[in-house]
Amino acid sequence: MAAPVKTTCPYCGVGCGVLARATSGAPEIHGDPEHPANFGRLCSKGSALGDTVSLEGRLLFPRVAGQQVDWESALRHVADGFARVIREHGPQAVALYVSGQLLTEDYYVANKLMKGYIGAANIDTNSRLCMSSAVAGHKLAFGGDIVPGCYEDLEVADLIVLVGSNTAWCHPVLYQRIMQAKEQRPQMRLVVIDPRRTPTCETADLHLPIKPGTDVALFNGLLAYLYRAGALDTEFVAARTTGWREALEVAMYSCPDAEAVAAATGVDPDRINDFFELFARTPRVVTAFSQGVNQSSAGTDKVNSIINCHLLTGRIGRPGMGPFSLTGQPNAMGGREVGGLANMLAAHMSLEVDSHRRIVQDFWGSPTIASQAGLKAVELFEAIHAGRVKAIWIMATNPLVSLPDADRARAALERCELVVVSDCIAQTDTTALAHVLLPACAWGEKSGTVTNSERRISRQRAFLQAPGEARPDWWIITQVAKYMGFGAGFPYSSAAAIFDEHARLSAASNEGTRCFNIAGLAGLTEEEYDRLEPVQWPLHHRGESGTQRLLGDGRFWNPSGAARMVPTAPRAPVNAPCEDFPFILNTGRIRDQWHTMTRTSRSARLVEHLPEPFVDMHAQDALLSGVRAGDLVRVTTKWGTVVARLRTTGEISRGCVFVPIHWSGVFASEARAGSLVNPVVDPLSGEPEFKHTPARIDPFPVEWHGVALTRQALDLCDVTWWTLVPGRSCFRHELAGRKRPANWEAWARKLLGAAGEEADFLDYYDESAGVYRAVYIVGERLTGCLYVSRRPDLPARDWLTEVFSKYWITPQDRMALLAGRALGAGADAGPLVCSCFGVRRAAIEKAIAEHGLDSPRQVSERLRAGSNCGSCIPEIRKLLADSKSLSACI
Ligand code: SF4
Repeated sequence: MAAPVKTTCPYCGVGCGVLARATSGAPEIHGDPEHPANFGRLCSKGSALGDTVSLEGRLLFPRVAGQQVDWESALRHVADGFARVIREHGPQAVALYVSGQLLTEDYYVANKLMKGYIGAANIDTNSRLCMSSAVAGHKLAFGGDIVPGCYEDLEVADLIVLVGSNTAWCHPVLYQRIMQAKEQRPQMRLVVIDPRRTPTCETADLHLPIKPGTDVALFNGLLAYLYRAGALDTEFVAARTTGWREALEVAMYSCPDAEAVAAATGVDPDRINDFFELFARTPRVVTAFSQGVNQSSAGTDKVNSIINCHLLTGRIGRPGMGPFSLTGQPNAMGGREVGGLANMLAAHMSLEVDSHRRIVQDFWGSPTIASQAGLKAVELFEAIHAGRVKAIWIMATNPLVSLPDADRARAALERCELVVVSDCIAQTDTTALAHVLLPACAWGEKSGTVTNSERRISRQRAFLQAPGEARPDWWIITQVAKYMGFGAGFPYSSAAAIFDEHARLSAASNEGTRCFNIAGLAGLTEEEYDRLEPVQWPLHHRGESGTQRLLGDGRFWNPSGAARMVPTAPRAPVNAPCEDFPFILNTGRIRDQWHTMTRTSRSARLVEHLPEPFVDMHAQDALLSGVRAGDLVRVTTKWGTVVARLRTTGEISRGCVFVPIHWSGVFASEARAGSLVNPVVDPLSGEPEFKHTPARIDPFPVEWHGVALTRQALDLCDVTWWTLVPGRSCFRHELAGRKRPANWEAWARKLLGAAGEEADFLDYYDESAGVYRAVYIVGERLTGCLYVSRRPDLPARDWLTEVFSKYWITPQDRMALLAGRALGAGADAGPLVCSCFGVRRAAIEKAIAEHGLDSPRQVSERLRAGSNCGSCIPEIRKLLADSKSLSACI
């Protein structure tokens, strides 16, 4: 058997190492015990990677105007189309919209084509949507986009502050590392700052549920407190910072004490004081932040208000100390390194600096160089809508689901002259509007590098053959460049050659003036590149082992050589709740899905965790809005609507609602969270306000609810509301309708499809109860079933799925199917908790009750749940806590 290939996970910014081995079936996937990001761990998503690489739904051949064509025709069509628009309207009329899923080498050539050959900077990326505020904050404070710390800091810190980060679900392996360190050093403290009570809060020593958008007030208050408490590092501040007096003045004026902070944030002043005291007396503190901070119209200020507290105390760049941006995507950092954002140049150089533009143009030998910042993501789609940008090439992303005001983005693409999409998936909301589709390699087939949140460059290696005519993104881009007449600038025959140029550019005219420098990785042979071990930049010379921490020596990259403390006055969010839209909508990720589900939906175990789109709100707000948990509700904002089922999990504060970001038009009739989101952006970073959109909740009355399980996905155009849940052995469709069909049997037969003469069609109708059930059985195999009821009291989906997976069903199953419930005790196992071992809630609750279990470790020992990736441990903890409260009540 072939040796496993060392590669990296393609999902979050933790950048875990993966051992992948191709087999005749699904590839074998394990965590790489030698990779310093994860030391062998993988979360539920990483563990399920093997389920996601099938060829089903892949885009395998180039297509122009819906017709399959050869590569040469497709490439010529794109090149000619772009060249024509540039000729007629100038270079600002074309754009690239790329992705943190691309490898660094792909990003490098895309950026080079746009900025050095087309001569405009209209290349932006979906990373704009998740971490550009961190970039802007870093550049302001440090003089460069520098993450000072490393993952080890999260293990050696005495206090970890997680701000706007559901780390347990969104960076699960890092969370496991923190949990393990906390177990070994119980004195370690964890503070979570988040308007939601997320699973991460289950293990927090202190949770501050601040009102959305009030982070700056909290950290300004902390800054003022630190100064008054004498926690200021006088020597460091005097010698190594500028602007501290102004920053402090603004902080003391706006948020002088815990009472003022409590008034602004809505958190009890005692809890605020506890946090301030803890921070002040703990030298080893890491403040890790993520989308809850970045995705805001004041995102840059939020980042700087956090950094200010670390600069005032001199706690930066030393073991266990520093602000820490946790990036969302696997290669958001790599994209930043090559300048794949509209306001950056390659190798951390600046578009606004003449000497930088000269260095890059001379190095590339390019005919031109962009001289001004290009259009950032939201502006870009607005420019398409306005007809100023007439040709767009979208790579490895699905903006019609992920952008704010996503309906307007769709309208923009509908009117765009030329839409080119490179993707590995054939059917997405965005590919549906493409004039040209280019089949790109998927994870497992790609080779290149990625950089994770701690600046660690790792190889992503191919272990599968590219299927059909799929090609690497860098190849597609360089071929288009060639057909546009720029072949001399794009002579690469491999990803290694591109990486070499990237490494050399980082060193060009860089006499210690720029922090990003990977000269030590220049000149690698193909073999050396292939063997490249994970390494943290900068590294200046061959053979160096990289740099674990930065800035601890007091060296910053501003012209003054010092760090800048930025005054951050709290600002009210751009759109406040009002009578028509009284709630604040927050959007975000769930544990087992990734972005728009194009890949994770292929894994039944991932889909099962939270299979339907939902709206979460406080139970009292639900009551006052006239809706109940389990009902369908409509979320409306000024920009769009979503219809989903209501949950009242207790995670959401009064006045807020939460909608997950993952569902697209492929998986649900009306659940694209992006369509709801306010398109206002941070003025500096251009990052949109995904966490603060005024919204309204209304009942979504329906006449009937239904669920249908079939072997094929159904065409549901005449159903009012639907969600598609792909499974191992069947497709599940959650349904609801406003109109009852005149004849249920005829409707059911049409919906479930003809199953042939030999099929048994069994049905049951109770008109007074509003209940209808239909079952198609061929031979002894269930091929389709439909359950309808006036209320959402339908059969347990887990049981139905289990019956569906049987090769033949028993007479008792037939009876049960028609009765609409499992016959016999304990048949409803409840929702899935542990994806790795398929352990459901009922089994965990039973084990806790029967064996008096009181820790996740005991649950793992008995049921294995939580013993692999650990992503479900917060949920197990919650079940343990619920059981404790129940026993206390009895
Ligand atoms: Fe992949 Fe999970 Fe690691 Fe993130 S934490 S890189 S999703 S395995």
